Order: sequence, then structure tokens, then C-alpha cells
Amino acid sequence: MRPIAAGPPDTDTTTLLADAARRGARYLGGLATRPVPADPAAVRALAAFDETLNDDPRDAAEVLAELDQRVSPATTATAGPRFFGYVIGGTLPAALAANWLAGAWDQNASLESIAPGVARLEAVALAWLVDVLGLPVQAQGAFVTGATMANFTALAAARHAVLARVGWDVANDGLSGAPPVTVIVGEEAHPTLLKSLALLGFGRRRVLRVPVDGQGRMRAEALPRLTGPTILCLQAGNINTGAFDPFAAICPVARAAGAWVHVDGAFGLWAQASPRLAPLCAGIEGADSWATDAHKWLNVPYDSGLAFVREPGALPAAMAITAEYLPSPGVKRSPSDFTPELSRRARGVEVWAVLRSLGRSGLAGLFERNCRQARRFADGLAAAGFEILNDVVLNQVLVSFGEPAVTQRVIAAVQDDGTCWCGGTVWQGRTAMRISVCSWATTDEDVERSLAAILAVAGRAR
Ligand SMILES: *Cc1c(COP(=O)(O)O)cnc(C)c1O
Repeated sequence: MRPIAAGPPDTDTTTLLADAARRGARYLGGLATRPVPADPAAVRALAAFDETLNDDPRDAAEVLAELDQRVSPATTATAGPRFFGYVIGGTLPAALAANWLAGAWDQNASLESIAPGVARLEAVALAWLVDVLGLPVQAQGAFVTGATMANFTALAAARHAVLARVGWDVANDGLSGAPPVTVIVGEEAHPTLLKSLALLGFGRRRVLRVPVDGQGRMRAEALPRLTGPTILCLQAGNINTGAFDPFAAICPVARAAGAWVHVDGAFGLWAQASPRLAPLCAGIEGADSWATDAHKWLNVPYDSGLAFVREPGALPAAMAITAEYLPSPGVKRSPSDFTPELSRRARGVEVWAVLRSLGRSGLAGLFERNCRQARRFADGLAAAGFEILNDVVLNQVLVSFGEPAVTQRVIAAVQDDGTCWCGGTVWQGRTAMRISVCSWATTDEDVERSLAAILAVAGRAR
């Protein structure tokens, strides 16, 4: 007999999971042919979710069916092949499958003793990443939720290190009364980098901003003289242009002056995984820390970011729970000594699965293909007489269709058309449409179809 104070009614777990897989596969199978934006009627119908919580349990199979019926059509097809907004990326099948299996495992990745399998996978994935991304072999890494937290995590290590060098223990004594730290960013730093700095107590307004060139690259000659505790933040992959700061010109000089150099490489750091694209990052290995996203260009599910720090022990110095932490080579890696979180899901499982399934050539192929596709967009639009505002060095394209109002009309019409999805921006005073190509699912045919749709819409808006 079942107890009276029952939890949810019994559902056969195998049937339920098979149903979830079937529904997920059907959803993904429909992405190539449905309009990219969410179905407006389905979005309006979301209002029906605003109801009071039921008193009695519901069957899990019913709950799943309700999710699928009501939410699936209210999603934007960001997992599909023709979403080019922001810098989003899809999810590789290997990553999604690994994510589902890891969900079943439900491991707490903070402790190697109770989660040995995922702890080992994450350690291996980090070592592979250090290799693939061309970072110093001794660099240590951490799995976090995204580039915002990756920047935060690496910059916390930076804060600790630069203050420790002048005899201040920020972990124990805090920032009040600490020697001042000079923080320098480029004029085109991503807004979330400034947020991370603000969370660390540096203050958005106190940050020094170095002028940039027409592509958004920091101008090396405009760098102020560096003295005292200093953190310098560079960027690999500007969110609008895809441009890279001149690492080779800046890193050696800054480090020689005692500054900590951090690189926000949310998507641009992946260029390192391709021999063809890696020259864009020349000198990047000379920095002290790096942040990147896996949920953007590596095409794993949300949320997944990565922080790397050159100096062994510098991450744990800022992140370990016990202040007594002393890095010693023989000690087993304790995952939570590297992350802001204690308990967390094992994000490294999906990252491992992608690296394993693509291999070096598959990784390079993914990034190179998307860059070639971005180039094709730019060439097609330029050939039709529209102005490309950036040097298309990576996977980002900025196009103007004329007057700001015209460009805005085209962006709205492209989104309304639904063949593909592109957003807008203002780049150094000029209104532009952004095309960001970062999905494994985007085929050359998707690019041609999207280009044709954009040109048709733009022709009408002119
Ligand atoms: C996307 C992005 C971020 C923020 O990343 P999240 O994963 O959304 O936290 C930071 N910097 C750059 C350059 C980005 O493109």
C-alpha cells in the first residue's frame, strides 16, 4: 500500500524519460522549418500560466506534456540554424545528450570524494582546454555559469594577487583600507566586465578607460603608465566587430610593469583552437588570466563559462573556502577551491563531450566554418550595395542599410519575416544590424536562405 501523505503519483520513470527525449527530438527536428521568433499566439497564451498553485499532485507525464504544449512554441529558435542575434550559439547533439545523462546522475561537482566521475571528467576537460586554447600548461581553470562569472572569478584572483604583492590580504582584511588598485579597461569593454569589476568593489566609475580604434581595439600607445597594484583588462572578440586587442604589444609591457593582465575572451578566445584563426590572438598566452564562454561558441547548453588563471594557486587563493589553503602539487584537486559556488552541477561533462566528439579538427572546423559564413554574409550584403561597418575578421558582421531609421526598419522587418533573426546595435555612433554566426547547426544553405531574406526585406525597406 502507498502511504497516504503521498508525493507525486507514480509515473514510470523510463516511460517519462523516453517521452522527454521524444518531445525534445521533435522540437529540435522542427527548428529548421519553423519561423525563428517565438509564435506570438503562444507567447500571448503564456498568460495562462499565471494561476494559483494546485493543491493536489499532478502526474509527471501530464506536467511534461503541459510544458511541451505551452512552452515549446513560445521559444525563440536559438537552438536552430538561423538565429544570428547577440552571440548565442546552439547545442551540439553530443552536448545535449551528455547534459541529459548528467542530469540523471545529479552529481554535486563540488566534491571529488562524492562525485569522482565528474570531478575527473572536469579535470581532464580543463587540461584539454588549456591545450586547445594555447594557454600556459600550468594554468588552472574553473567551470562557472558564463563569461560574466568567469570574468568575476578570474578578476577576484587578480584582486587577491595584486594586493598580496603589496602585503595586503584582501580575502581576510577586505577592501576597506586596502592600498588602491588601478583598474584599466578598453573603451569598448563588454558591459558585463564592468559589472564584474563593480561586484568586486572596484567601482564602474573608478575604472580607467583606454581609447580604442575604429574596430574597438585598445590603442596600445594610449595605455597610461602602469605603477602600483594594477589590473589591466583586455578583450578577445569585441561583441560588435569581433576585433581583438593587440595582446603582443600590450601583455609583455604590462606584465613587466607588474600589472595583472586579464582577457575577456567570451567567444574570441576560441579562435585559438583553429590554426587559421589563432593569429588573431597573437600574444594572448602572455596574459595572467582568461575568461570564456562554453555556451556561446562551443555550443553546449546554458549555463557554462570558463575561467583560467596562469599562476597555480592564484584561483584557490581567492576562491577556497578555507583560508589555510596552501597549493601543493601532491594534493588532489578540490573543485570547489576554484569556483565561487560550493554545490554546482557538473558543467564539465558537456564540455568534455563536445571536445571528445569534435576532436581538434572538428573544433577548428566549427569555428572556421562560422567565420567563413560570416564572410559570406558580408560579401553578399556588400555586393548588394550595403555598407559593412567592421573588418570581418571573425564571426561578427555589422551592416548599415543607410539612414538609422532605414536600418532600424530593416531589422524590424527581418525579425518579422522570421526566416532568420538579427538584432541591432549602434557602433561608434552608427546604427547597424548585427549578424553573429556561432551555431554548429548553421549550414551554408541556411546562410544563403537568410541572406536572400535579408536582401528581399532590405530591398522593400529602401
Ligand atoms: C557574452 C559576453 C560576455 C558575458 O557573457 P555571459 O555568458 O552572458 O555572462 C562578456 N564579454 C563578452 C565579450 C561577451 O561577448
